[in-house]
Parts: sequence; C-alpha cells; structure tokens
Amino acid sequence: MRLGSFQMRILLWTWALLLAVLGVIFFYSTSVVEKELVADIEIRSKSEIESIKWLIRDHAAFADERDFSEWVDAFGYSLGSRITYIADGRVVADSDVQFGDLGDLDDHSARPEVVAALEHGWGANVRRSDTLGKDMLYVASKMEAASGVPEGVIRLAVSFSTVSERLALLRRNILWIFVATFGAALVLSLIMSNNMTREIRSFSALAESIGRGEYSRRLRRVPGGEFKPLAESVNAMAQSIERSMRIVHDQKGQLQAIFQGMHEGVLTLDGEGRIESFNPALDEMFNMPESSKGRTPIEVSRRFEIQDLVDSILADPGEGSRSVQIDLLDDRTVEVKAETYQDQNGVRKIILVFHDITEMKRSEKGLRDFVANASHQLRTPLTSIKGYTETLIDMPPADPEAARGFLETVLKNADHMDKVISSMLALAKSEQMGKRLELKPVSGREHLSRAVDDLTPWASERSITFETRTPEGEMMVMGETDGLLHVFHNLINNAVKYSPDGGRITVSAEDDGESIVFCVEDQGPGISRELSTKVFERFYRVDENTIDGSGSAGLGLAICRRIVKNFGGEIWHDGYGEDIRGARFCFRLDKPA
Ligand code: ADP
Repeated sequence: MRLGSFQMRILLWTWALLLAVLGVIFFYSTSVVEKELVADIEIRSKSEIESIKWLIRDHAAFADERDFSEWVDAFGYSLGSRITYIADGRVVADSDVQFGDLGDLDDHSARPEVVAALEHGWGANVRRSDTLGKDMLYVASKMEAASGVPEGVIRLAVSFSTVSERLALLRRNILWIFVATFGAALVLSLIMSNNMTREIRSFSALAESIGRGEYSRRLRRVPGGEFKPLAESVNAMAQSIERSMRIVHDQKGQLQAIFQGMHEGVLTLDGEGRIESFNPALDEMFNMPESSKGRTPIEVSRRFEIQDLVDSILADPGEGSRSVQIDLLDDRTVEVKAETYQDQNGVRKIILVFHDITEMKRSEKGLRDFVANASHQLRTPLTSIKGYTETLIDMPPADPEAARGFLETVLKNADHMDKVISSMLALAKSEQMGKRLELKPVSGREHLSRAVDDLTPWASERSITFETRTPEGEMMVMGETDGLLHVFHNLINNAVKYSPDGGRITVSAEDDGESIVFCVEDQGPGISRELSTKVFERFYRVDENTIDGSGSAGLGLAICRRIVKNFGGEIWHDGYGEDIRGARFCFRLDKPA
C-alpha cells in the first residue's frame, strides 16, 4: 500500500474520524462521570453538614470552645470525615487538629468554600490539602450561633482521592475499550479497504494487460454490488477492443502482404518528404540501402524527377494525384504516381507508387513499328502494281510478250502482298492463341517428317538433300499440331531458301531428359552474331527491300518465336560451331510430365 494511494487516503481519513469521535466520547463521558461523582459527594456532604448543624443546635450549650472542639473531634472521628468550624476566619474546632494546636492554623476566611458559604449559605471546593497532603472536597455551610457556639461556618472535608482514583480507573478502562475498538476498527478497515482495492487493482491489472497487448484478458471473478456493472462494462470494453484489434491486425497483415508482394514499388514519405518505408519491389528497382529511411528520395534514387515531384507536393499539398515518367538505367520505364494522405495526427504524408510501364511502352512502340512496317511491306508491291497497271493502261506495250512480262510482275507483287497479309494474320492468330492455348502431348517425329516430306520436292528441284539425326521413338513434346508443323515448315523453308544448290540440310533432335531440342542446319550464308536475335523481330529481314516473290516479309521467325513461346519453350539461332557452315536454328520444347 503506497502513501498517498486511494486506499491509504481512505484509511487515514477513517482513522482520523474514528480517533476524533472516540476522543470526544472519552472526554465527554469522563467529565460527565466526574461531575456526577462530585455532585453526589457534595449532596451527601451537604446532608451530613445539615445533620451536624442539627446536632449542634440540638446539643446542650457547650461549656466552652474546648468542649465544643472535643465534641467536634469525637463526632468527626465517628463520621470518618474532617469537621472544621470557623468563626470570623479563626478555626474554632477541627476534628483533625488538637485543640491546643488550633491557634497555629492560619486565617480560613479567604478559603473559597468559606467565602462562598458566607455569601450564599453554601460553598464547595476541591483542592489539595497542605495539612493532609491529598486532594480533598471541602463543603461549607453558614451556621448561626447556637448552643454556645458563635456564628460561623461549618466545613466538612471529604477525601477526594477515592473519587480521583475511581475517575482514573474509569478513564483507564474507557481508554482500553477505545484502544481495543480503534484496533479492531483499524484491522477491519484494513481488511475492508484491501477487499475494495483488490477489486480496483483487478480493474487496473486488466487495463495494464490490455495496454501490453493481451487483449484476451478478462475479469474472471465479477465482484458483486456496485462493482458488478463496472466490471461487466470493463469486460465488454475489453472484448470490443479485442475485436477491433483483431480487425486492425488482420487489415494490417493484409496491407503488409499487399505492400510486400505487390509488383509496383511503393515509397512512403513523412510530412517533411523523408523516407519512412518502402517495399521489396522498390528495392529491386532502385537497390535501396537499409539506411534509406530518414533520407530524401534524391539521396537514395539520384533521380531529380522524383524529388521534383515530392517538392511540388510539399510546396502545394493540394488534393489529387500527380505523376511523372522516368527512364531507368536498365532501359525500364517507370511511372511514379504520388498521392497524399493525412495520418492520425493530421500530418499530410506522401505515398509514391512506382509502376513499371516498360512492357506497355514496348507494346505501344511495337504496335507503331508494326503498322509502319506493315504499311511499308504492302506499299512497295502496291506501288509497283499501280505503276505497271498505269503503264499498261496509258502506254500499253506493242509487244504482247512485254505486256505479259508487265502482268507477271503485277501478279508477283500481288502474290507477295497476299503472303505478307497471310503472315500477318498468322502472327496475329498465334499471339491471340497464346492466351487460351491448351497444350497436349504431340509427336515431334510425325510433324518433323511431314514438314520434310512437304518441302522435299522443292528442295529436290535444286538438288538439296536432307539428313535426319534423331533419337528413337515418337519424341513427344507439349504443344499443338498446327503450330508445331508451322515452326518446322518455316525453319526448313528458310533453310531450303538460303541453301546453295546441291547443299545439305541437317534436321536433328536431342532428348535432354526433360525436353527435346530440335535443330535445322543449312549450308547457306548463315547469320552474323549481331543479327542472331534481330532476325526474330517482326518484319526484320537482312535485305529488307528485296521482293523475291517468296512472300518474305520478315515475319516467319517472329511467328515461330511466338508459337514456341506459346508452347512454353524457347527458340534461338546457334550457328557458330566450327563445323557449321550456314545457319542453324534450334528450339526446345518440354516433354510431357
Ligand atoms: P521471311 O519470312 O522473310 O523469311 P524470316 O523471319 O523467316 O523472314 O527471316 C528473317 C530474316 O532472317 C530473313 O530475311 C533472312 O535474312 C534471315 N534468315 C532466316 N533464315 C535464314 C537462313 N536459314 N539462312 C540465312 N538467313 C536466314
């Protein structure tokens, strides 16, 4: 129990009150008893004095003062009290003093009881007797002259020490009773206040444990009486706090998971534009050091565009989001969007979201390039067709052979356009297909053989031969029939197209356990290292202006790449081995699980 605590204060007040009440009772009761005792003795003494007075009056006349003194001595002795007779201040008789010694006594006229008796007929006084050396009650009564005794005052002295002793005993007893009462009250009040504060302590213990985060704690023993509604409210409050904290915790967890797992980089800044937190995606974009927190965005990212954005918000924190696009060193483009929010203290903070828009920009650019390339691919033959047709109309050649030559050129260009458009449609289809393609096991051997068979007549025309090197079996891979045939067709078609007459085309396959790698190798001019990836781009042709009637628009390998990607595989040019003379295209497809 601490000094100054609620319990201590209640106890101190209770004890002080109790002491005050007991003190008042003590002093009041003892003074009442004292007064009663004195009054009782006074009454008894008075009646005794009256009796003495009556006896004096009734006595035959005393011979002289000695006679009277001796009578007083005898009577005082039998009464057990001191009787004194004073006339004009002189002690005429005193039962406790020999007649011969009376002359030694001092004048008694100034004694308070004597003065009172002379004035009012009666007087009483309690004081210490010098003669007897103890407390005495003196009661005096005026007496007229009688039986030879002169007028004077008769006084009775009663020992007061018995009264004082009784009073002292009474005081002692009452004091003991009060001490016992106070002690019992002390113990009882301690027990009671302990009980009371135990309940209060259990409330504060619950509040403390909730403060520590133990939201499931409750007051198990609900105290009765006045505390019951309070305890029930506290329990209800704890339950509602637990529920709210669980919701907050869940939401925090969700936000944390979103924050950690989202693809976009997120950076939160405090009211002064200093970094508070960031997520792994942002770390991946800018390689943020752990010490980034508390620093400004420019110190960490070295991008003034981001700092400008933040500064503009700090200078004018109006509503609405703002954004900026920045190009990163690794060729990625990021759009930074800034939003502001107010925290619980009313401080306006900033959240920056970094959205990687590289793919979007790339596809935008791809679309633009595609349209430009497609127009270019179609315009060249179209211009040619238009030119020849106008010539045929305006200035038809006289020679029918020449006219036929013109028309053959027109037809060749029209065929080229037809093939370009077919290729474009095939590419578009393969790009579309990728989104909803259902892969199934297909035979690599069957499709490879069909493609070789289809192109053998054309190859034979130029004495080109095929060599096939494949493992045993069906060579099953995950894919789709039309697509796989298209890839083999395209690669073998190119090989034939670029092979010198009499050349040899090697078609091979290799099983590496999980996948099969198919390769088509020719003895043509090959492809330089710098162009080995470019040849897979749409509309890329080594000599792009050539129109050879083959419909070559630089889309064949782009379509192959798209189809192989759709099948979950990869395609590449690999024609740089020592024994390779021409081009060698390979692609890998997974075997069924
Ligand atoms: P196309 O449909 O015009 O043949 P491709 O996409 O199939 O276009 O090929 C792109 C370019 O790659 C061709 O223009 C050609 O220059 C080059 N190429 C493709 N295959 C071979 C090969 N086997 N040998 C040499 N060059 C090739």
